[in-house]
Amino acid sequence: MFNPGTIVKVLIPNVINTGYDYRLPASADIGQFVRVSVMNKPYIGVIIGFGDSGLSPQKIKDIAEIYPSKLSIDDLTWIKKMSNWTLMTPGAVLRLIINVPDAFLPPKMEPMYNFNFSATGKMTENRQMVMDAYASNDNTPMTINDLRNISHVSPSVINTMIKRGLLTLTDTRVIETDEFNYKYFDTGSVSLNEEQTIAANMIGKAVEQGGFSVHVLDGITGSGKTQVYFDSVLRAYNAGKSVLLMMPEIALTAQFMTRFEKRFGAPPVVWHSNLTAARRREIWRGVLNKKIRIVVGTRSALFLPWQNLGLIVVDEEHDTSYKQEDMGNYHARDMAVLRAKIAGFPVVLASATPAMETMRNVEIGKYKILKLTSRFGGAQLPKISTIDLRESRPTDYTIPDNDNAQHGCLSPILCDAIDETLSSHQQVMLFINRRGFAPITQCRKCGWVATCPDCSVGMTYHKRLGKLLCHMCGRQMTLPTKCPDCNNEISMFGAGLERIEQEVHSRFPNAKTALVSSDTIMTRQTLERLVAKMENREIDIIIGTQILAKGHHFPNLTLVGVVDSDMGLYGTDFRAAEHTFQQLFQVAGRAGRGELPGRVLLQTYQPDNPVLTAICNCDRDTFLKNDMDARRLAKMPPFGQLIALIIEGEKESVLKQFCETLSANAPILNGGKILGPIAAQIYQIRNWYRMRFLITGDVNANLQPVVARWLDGIKVPANIRIKIDVNPQNFM
Ligand code: ADP
Ligand code: ZN
Ligand code: ZN
Repeated sequence: MFNPGTIVKVLIPNVINTGYDYRLPASADIGQFVRVSVMNKPYIGVIIGFGDSGLSPQKIKDIAEIYPSKLSIDDLTWIKKMSNWTLMTPGAVLRLIINVPDAFLPPKMEPMYNFNFSATGKMTENRQMVMDAYASNDNTPMTINDLRNISHVSPSVINTMIKRGLLTLTDTRVIETDEFNYKYFDTGSVSLNEEQTIAANMIGKAVEQGGFSVHVLDGITGSGKTQVYFDSVLRAYNAGKSVLLMMPEIALTAQFMTRFEKRFGAPPVVWHSNLTAARRREIWRGVLNKKIRIVVGTRSALFLPWQNLGLIVVDEEHDTSYKQEDMGNYHARDMAVLRAKIAGFPVVLASATPAMETMRNVEIGKYKILKLTSRFGGAQLPKISTIDLRESRPTDYTIPDNDNAQHGCLSPILCDAIDETLSSHQQVMLFINRRGFAPITQCRKCGWVATCPDCSVGMTYHKRLGKLLCHMCGRQMTLPTKCPDCNNEISMFGAGLERIEQEVHSRFPNAKTALVSSDTIMTRQTLERLVAKMENREIDIIIGTQILAKGHHFPNLTLVGVVDSDMGLYGTDFRAAEHTFQQLFQVAGRAGRGELPGRVLLQTYQPDNPVLTAICNCDRDTFLKNDMDARRLAKMPPFGQLIALIIEGEKESVLKQFCETLSANAPILNGGKILGPIAAQIYQIRNWYRMRFLITGDVNANLQPVVARWLDGIKVPANIRIKIDVNPQNFM
């Protein structure tokens, strides 16, 4: 406890901040939330210790307000260690925690609108987006700001909707509640089978004893991992602890919420990026004052002001969405484990395809593994096999109003299987990992390729848009009718999702199809409408990108066809094989989840590729062993460490000059080396040029402090940005 008048150091949520000194007007504790002013702007900050600026007392301002709540010493340690590990500043880490800046202030007076569901009129895309925004917030009233942030429609659209009476003014004040009356209990709706019980008891013991541990819940899709960790959640909750259940955004489905409610008698509090400001404040305060003790949320839920956390579950722990890449680089799974280690509580990592890093930690005994080996209720695993595209060559097909034969992508064997499935009234899923219609637009004569003027990547033709789209920056361009360089004819090469759809329409004209990709699925609501359509048999063939691979359960889906299994096998990144395996394994898990057995067909030019054979044989162990060996040999993670420095500059010459300065000042690393600078794989994004350094080191090398010291000593010119990525997942 600090006495009144003491000079203390206050950390504020700001990137450049490591703490400023203030005088306490009353006594306060370390970790306590306070309001201070910096350059005449109010901030909520946290007391982190005695002041040490050495400023004369007259120059030190008073703290404006002391709030009753605080972060624990463990939280402060976590902030510090996270900052040391990710090389984010402590202020940047605190900004993740204080992400509801006005959490302690009374709500502002602001007009609130309801959606008028009884209004008639046609369903436009904008209208659907606004309705979805309401749906993600239990149809509570929204401010104009909420509507803009969540539905992404333009202010003029909102104004028109107000004029037409689609949005109606309900109140002029944000109403917030601090009452969360959910009481959770075991409804007895589920009794675990033997294998599940063993796993649940192991984790349960860890939860009840407390103390740090990590359990990897490793079970094939449909084996009941969710039901097992639900058991752990309830045990921690019943022991009076708070519980965080992290999932990828796309897995936060209504299906999941319903299962939660069925098991626990009440719905969970859900945290994601599409909440209204009022809801975010409510949840933030609810977690702080322990009125909310279970939250299901995306990676940012880790940074809620948790009190007395007793368990974190990371579902789909291998999922790449746990890695945050802008506004600071951190891996939410790893930071969850760090938090648990500091505060001393258990973590559960659940996946059907755990990350290589996780498996390595199992191998060296840091994590314990619990296996679920069979699908619940005896559902059969699908039969997985490859189709050799060199033998079963796709034939040409035709489209209406066009006499040219089109090159097909669906092999005769796959087409026969689709026919069979459709005629027995079951459903088909086709999977291709490329959005749009055609990835390459090129001149047949001079070789000109449509590329984005701001990014050094090709532009993809999107038929639905009728335009070329840059997948890097979102720029759209009209498709030129003739080559801009030589005025000759232009062709489109390669197959994207929309081209497959065209082929499916041509070959199976009576089938009802649906297309799913990040272009068509903007929200979970859209995805849910689609899931409902699948369940109601309004879709025969669903065609989609990896977005489809995640946890949905379609009982009548019995055939999964992967159009381009080879994509990704040749990525330049050392995780290419791992990601391909995980993705195909997940996709395969979609088939045959009901009573009907399923099958999965992988189209490939290399049926003997070890990644594909491992998938066909459901032989994850062999795959893991091979991939581990390869990485051990190459000293890649988890057998080595990597830190990437991405240096971006608006002017190429300034960037090159700065990189030379960095090189000239590069430190000598013990047990590591500094590679680069080289031009980044994508050299230009949004008109900024990009160079990369890669720092590699042994598992035990302590790279971060060396990198920190290196950068500390160098002045960064204007118009240069440095991004530090510890253990990068992305090598673009
Ligand atoms: P996973 O998370 O491993 O993919 P789920 O937990 O989703 O598996 O379980 C697959 C299906 O089996 C779900 O419909 C789930 O409700 C059901 N299930 C799993 N275990 C049980 C159980 N012990 N009792 C009743 N249903 C179960
Ligand atoms: Zn040309
Ligand atoms: Zn671009």
